[in-house]
Amino acid sequence: MADPADSSRVTLVIRGGTVVGPEGLRRVDVAISGTTIAAVAESIEPPSGATVLDAAGCLVGPGLVDLHAHLRQPGREEAETVESGARAAALGGYTAVVAMPNTEPPIDSAGVAKEVLALGAGCPAEVAVAGAITVGRAGTALAPMGELAALGVSLFTDDGAGVQDGGLMRRALDYAKGLGVTLAQHCEEERLAAGGAMHEGCWSSRLGIPGVPAAAEEAMVARDVSLSRLTGAAVHFLHLSTAGSVELVRRAKAEGLPVTAEAAPHHILLTHDLVAGYDPVFKVNPPLRPAEDVAAVVAGLCDGTVDAIATDHAPHAPETKDVPFDEAPPGMLGLQTALPLAWEVLSPHLSPERVFALMSSQPAVIARLTATDPRLVGHSAQGGPVEVGVTANLCVFDPTAATVVDPAGLASRSRNTPYAGRTFTGAVRHTVLRGEAVVIDAVAQR
Ligand SMILES: [Zn+2]
Repeated sequence: MADPADSSRVTLVIRGGTVVGPEGLRRVDVAISGTTIAAVAESIEPPSGATVLDAAGCLVGPGLVDLHAHLRQPGREEAETVESGARAAALGGYTAVVAMPNTEPPIDSAGVAKEVLALGAGCPAEVAVAGAITVGRAGTALAPMGELAALGVSLFTDDGAGVQDGGLMRRALDYAKGLGVTLAQHCEEERLAAGGAMHEGCWSSRLGIPGVPAAAEEAMVARDVSLSRLTGAAVHFLHLSTAGSVELVRRAKAEGLPVTAEAAPHHILLTHDLVAGYDPVFKVNPPLRPAEDVAAVVAGLCDGTVDAIATDHAPHAPETKDVPFDEAPPGMLGLQTALPLAWEVLSPHLSPERVFALMSSQPAVIARLTATDPRLVGHSAQGGPVEVGVTANLCVFDPTAATVVDPAGLASRSRNTPYAGRTFTGAVRHTVLRGEAVVIDAVAQR
């Protein structure tokens, strides 16, 4: 195949990889000119001066998009900053992340949103923000969603807390529908969950740790399915973790309601018995569940009920996490391990295209990041496809290399990974952001 006509302007060439596209896998090279894919062809000779990335044996897919990352800035910079989180994201193959609003202060006003967006400028992954649904995430009064939407904020959530008041949630949905934005719910009925620190079941009884019943999640999923039906507004369900929740979303979709859902990597792999050692690294909200729930979430990802894998990356500084299980804050790191983990769990069931869709194009659609938004300065179209003319946001993944999880080697400021010492099959090799190789051979370039 010929080189692109204007090969002198080619700035980066990815050689020897297999492109993951909607029409299947293709053994082709990819040439990039500036920020854009200029050629996809069987053999591209790099012009002198162009950066060359070796992708032999690798899959070349669209850069991953995370709907759910806690970057902790402002307020908890000892745990993570926008920059350290974005670097962890890039090393994990992500080219965009949505920063959750449970910062201190929370992202419930244009001022804080602008601050986080400014911190994200120049980072090795694009940083979008989710706005809070209610002022202070306190669940009592609606946040100025219109003011936030005017900045390009398209996802709103009180994550960390669910909106308990159904009447307020209904008004928020009406408002969101008018603004053309999506509400994302952390599904937890607080009075059912009160005092719980792990899944309520055989292991919570055995360990003497107060439990959170599956019903605490499912009751809110059921309520919000009803509210989506009532208002016609879109609802996105965050980190679904139980078989009952997955079934509720499956039925809502069958009915044609505008609902979407995500699952976190830990909920497709880890189970509640891991809490047996009382290690707070396994404390997370929603909690780790029994194997039947894990299997149901995986089945939901496989049959299209669950639209996306979202990390719920939740850094905690060691001094806050190294306390008794009951007192520890919930949350786990996720950005640097999500793709190898998802690959290990899902690739026996799904094609590479489907795995990438769950982590790139589908979350990009939910977060409305597939097209450039003039309000979001420095942001580009995310979610692929890997085709000529598309912005070069790419993830080069070696499905046979090993990822050995060493907490000390992670880019995050925190170390609370539940996978310490574990080896996953599959490793992110290169990440390309707007045509720039920001990760080369698993090393961050900035
Ligand atoms: Zn949450």
